[in-house]
Amino acid sequence: MIVKAPNEILSKRCETLRRHNYVGIANTFIKKSWKHRDGACGIAANQINMPYRLFIGKMNKGGKHQFWKIFINPRIVIKPSSTKIGGWFPINEECLSIPGKSYNTIREDHITIVYRDMDFKIVWATYDNMNARIIQHEVDHLNGTLISDIHQTEFGLEKHKSINKEVS
Ligand SMILES: [Zn+2]
Repeated sequence: MIVKAPNEILSKRCETLRRHNYVGIANTFIKKSWKHRDGACGIAANQINMPYRLFIGKMNKGGKHQFWKIFINPRIVIKPSSTKIGGWFPINEECLSIPGKSYNTIREDHITIVYRDMDFKIVWATYDNMNARIIQHEVDHLNGTLISDIHQTEFGLEKHKSINKEVS
């Protein structure tokens, strides 16, 4: 079952995996998330009731070489567009935990992340476009942030909406 908002597990920061416990948790997560993959772009562990920092994301979605990838303890370390103009773009995002709704969400189009793989090795990687968007959505989940939260606070879209309301 996918956990639906509002639910405490979706709004809390997930727990970092350790070398001594990651194998069992990651394998359980892979098994439990399997049946939810159809039509999904990514699944964070807390969406299936596991409060740990890992997710799977569909990379190269819609392309010839699309595949599911697991990210353990992911952390976004560089967001270039926070230091230069451009690189932000809005797209309507949906979330398995908020069925039937979509939120116009602004994301970075290029990110660098550091995570651990299934051997618990540290990996640095850069991602663009849709891959970067999916990763940001999922890392937000692990930090207890949903697209409905971003929508209302970070980018002032609510304000924009209310201005439109006044005009019409
Ligand atoms: Zn989501």
